[in-house]
Order: sequence, then C-alpha cells, then structure tokens
Amino acid sequence: MNELLEILAERLDRKTLLVGDAITDKYCVDWSGSEPVRPIAVVRPTNTDQVSSILQLCHQYVQPVVTQGGMTGLAGAATPENNEIALSLERMVGIEEIDLDSMTMTLLAGTPLQQAQEAASAAGLYLPLDLGARGSCTIGGNLSTNAGGNQVVRYGMMRELVLGLEAVLADGRVISSMNKVIKNNTGYDLKQLFIGSEGTLGVVTRIVLRLQPKLKGTYTALCASNDFASLIQFFKHAQTELAGGVSAFEVMWTGYYDYIVENLDTVKNPFSQSYACYALVQYQGADNSQMVEMFESMLCDAIQQGMVAEVMVAQSSREADNFWRIRDGIGDVLKLLAPTLGFDVSIPIRDMQSFVETVETELKSQFPSARLLLFGHIGDSNLHLAVGLGNVDDELKIAELVYQKVSYYEGSISAEHGIGKLKKKYLPLSRSSEELALMKQLKLALDPQQILNPGRII
Ligand SMILES: Cc1cc2nc3c(=O)[nH]c(=O)nc-3n(C[C@H](O)[C@H](O)[C@H](O)COP(=O)(O)OP(=O)(O)OC[C@H]3O[C@@H](n4cnc5c(N)ncnc54)[C@H](O)[C@@H]3O)c2cc1C
Repeated sequence: MNELLEILAERLDRKTLLVGDAITDKYCVDWSGSEPVRPIAVVRPTNTDQVSSILQLCHQYVQPVVTQGGMTGLAGAATPENNEIALSLERMVGIEEIDLDSMTMTLLAGTPLQQAQEAASAAGLYLPLDLGARGSCTIGGNLSTNAGGNQVVRYGMMRELVLGLEAVLADGRVISSMNKVIKNNTGYDLKQLFIGSEGTLGVVTRIVLRLQPKLKGTYTALCASNDFASLIQFFKHAQTELAGGVSAFEVMWTGYYDYIVENLDTVKNPFSQSYACYALVQYQGADNSQMVEMFESMLCDAIQQGMVAEVMVAQSSREADNFWRIRDGIGDVLKLLAPTLGFDVSIPIRDMQSFVETVETELKSQFPSARLLLFGHIGDSNLHLAVGLGNVDDELKIAELVYQKVSYYEGSISAEHGIGKLKKKYLPLSRSSEELALMKQLKLALDPQQILNPGRII
C-alpha cells in the first residue's frame, strides 16, 4: 500500500475507504461502455469537510482522483484511469431544505434525480429536469454534465435550474456559492465554472435548485408528417398557439420509428401507414377543458395547414406512455443493432434536414452494412444518431464522417452528454484553438497539479 493510502486508512473508517476486494465492479465503469478499470481505492465521504480533507491529501501527494456520481454518464468521464482514486458521492444523499416561498431546493450532490423530483412533487412543486437514467443519476452528475433531457425546450438545461452550489477545489478549498436568489450580479458567476465541466474543476458537494410550479395538466399527441420541413413549421405553430407551453417536442425519422414498432412488443403503433417523420408533442398547463380545447384546436389547425398528416391525441396516461415508449425504445433495441455507435449532436434547426440527408447518403454509399436510426429533441436542435455498425472495423471512419459533417454545419459534437474521454479528440471540431487554450488556462488555475479527472475534456 502506498503512503497516501496508508494515511487515508488511518483517517477513514471501512465504510468510507474501500480497497482490494471491497471495490466492486460498479466503481470500475460508467454507462459509456468504456473498458472497465479498477481504481486503486474508493473514497465515499459523507460531508464536505471529508471531501476537503481527502482532496487536500491527494493534492499534496499529486494523486489523481476521478469523481463518481450515479455512473450513468455516456462520455466515459467517470470511468477510472489506471492509478486513480475514485471519489464517490453515493453517501452524500439527502434534501436539506425545500423553500416554498423562494421555490428552491437545497440538497447534497449525491442525491438521485428521481429522489429530488419526488421530494419537489411532495412539496407541491416541480423539478423539470428529467431523463431516462433518473433512478440512478445524481444531481451532482446532472450539474457536472449540464444534463438536458426531454423538457429543455421549455425549462432549459441543468444550467438554467441551478441557483447556487458548493464545491471543493483540487487543493481542498471549499467554495460556497449557495445562492438562492434569481438576480445576483455580484461579479463573476463562479457556479458556472462547475456546471458542465465534468468534474475537471472541482467536486460539487451541495446544490441549490430552482423549482417550478407544479402544473396538473399534461397533454400529449403523436403526430405524423410527410416531410421534416413541415414538422419545423409545426413546432413553431405549436409554440405560438400554446404560448410557449410546449414541454417536449421529440422527432423520430421513419427508419427509427419503423425499427422500434417492428422490434418492440411493448409498443403499439397507432398509425396504419408509414410517414417520413413523427413528432411527439407534450404540453403542460392547468388541468381544465379550456386547455384541452386549446391543444386540440392547435392540432386541427396544423392538419388543415398541411404541417402534419395524421395526429393521435393520447386519451389516457396509458396511451401517452405508449407514445413515450416509442420515443424511449432506443435503449431496448440497441442490443439488436449491436455493435453500435451513438452520437449526440446539435445542428442548427434550419440545416438539420440537409445534415440528415447528407449523412444518410454518404453512410449508405461508403458503409452499406451500417444502419442509421435518427431521433432527437428537435426543439433544442439536438439530434441523436444510433448507428448499427454492421462491420465493427468501420467505427472510427463512421465517427469521422459524422463529426466532420457536424463541423461543416457549425453544430456541436456534444449536445448534452459531454466530452469526457470518448469525444475528446473531436473537440477541436466544435471549439476554436483560442477557446481550448482558455479552457486549459482555467484548468491550471483551479487545479495546478491536474489531479481532478485528468485527461477528461482537455
Ligand atoms: C438510459 C440513459 C438515459 C440518459 N438520458 C440522458 C438525457 O436525456 N440527457 C442527458 O443529458 N443525459 C442523459 N444520459 C446521460 C447521463 O444520465 C447524464 O450525463 C447524467 O447527468 C450523469 O449523472 P451521473 O450522476 O450518473 O454522473 P456520472 O456518470 O457518475 O458522472 C458524469 C460526470 O460528472 C462528474 N461528476 C459526477 N458527480 C460529480 C460531482 N458531485 N462533482 C463533480 N463532478 C461530478 C463525473 O466525474 C463525470 O465527469 C442518459 C444516460 C442513460 C444511461
């Protein structure tokens, strides 16, 4: 055992420090499918002071540390590298306060998203962040990846939901910016350094979230269209007619939709014919007949004006769930498509169809055995591409093709999952050399020994 581990073993009890066989597989890899690596130790602090004293020691011994939340990240950032200590937030769980007047929630960073959502709901409020990994991902992980999810079009990404935070720097200094107010123009907004920086600048320990009023009515429809351009018109129409109340606008191209309804027994296709693309629209508002009328009248107008060809309005939460299962079915079909390669990119909406057509055409001609499924949070310019590789040797070449096209259309190589380790080499396609140099400068200013999540992002 090295000297640092001996000191940690003297100071920390057996629940807080795991070594040897006590390190189970869950600390070795996140959801990215990266190669698992066993950390040399796992520390599981229960409070900020412990995080601070652990990092102080690691800083002194120049010991690399990887911070771990719920390990659902898809960019490989929480998967350890050789010789790293994993710092898991799994014991820093709990809601400290829900302030009904300020509509805020103060909580520990290791709290699972679903627990926070349920606590907000029990208090009569609403935490609008939602994603498929809600049961396992943590608020600290959501903050560090600036998570998006299904309702960004209305409520913004995690960045918009964070009012304040507390973070521990690499040398153990605690920065407390536990701000609760919406307006606070008092110099640099330090919390922004930690949001979306994937644990490279500090370990986030406590967070203040902004909550929203709980709306009781949710209205959902699955709409089919003969072309993507009409769906874009439909999106603008829905936003205007529903006064900005659209809370999800998810688009699925026919290749995706058909593959899901053909292969998943758990979903029912409500349409009797195939269309070019589909939009799953969700609107949240009060629970009354006026809202129903407004929603249905918006849909009728869209049909009359030719923006959509056919519409199914969910008459029950069961029907709405069926629509969402089609949208979320990707997780269940990945094994059928394997080996796969996933992309989470942003493309300006006006260029999206051109991007899709170019990628489809070039993939077909250069990699005939590959299969492309396309879907995304189109209201946020976020497109997901799931590629069944056919031939595993094509992986790198297909990644190059897609990322080069993203760069050509001035999009982003990561919309919501982050850069981590897996997309690091493509980052210069989305950020300029000056931006990258400034990121490196910031990293060195906050973590001069580069012990926090080294090798991630930059
Ligand atoms: C089924 C599924 C669906 C998903 N859907 C979405 C989606 O719709 N939108 C979306 O954005 N993402 C999605 N994701 C990706 C993932 O859930 C998010 O990135 C999530 O925010 C990660 O949270 P986590 O707690 O699991 O973090 P981890 O995977 O543990 O860590 C992710 C990154 O955050 C850092 N980190 C974690 N906690 C802290 C902390 N307290 N302080 C500092 N750094 C920290 C880690 O070092 C790492 O860099 C999905 C993943 C799955 C498996």
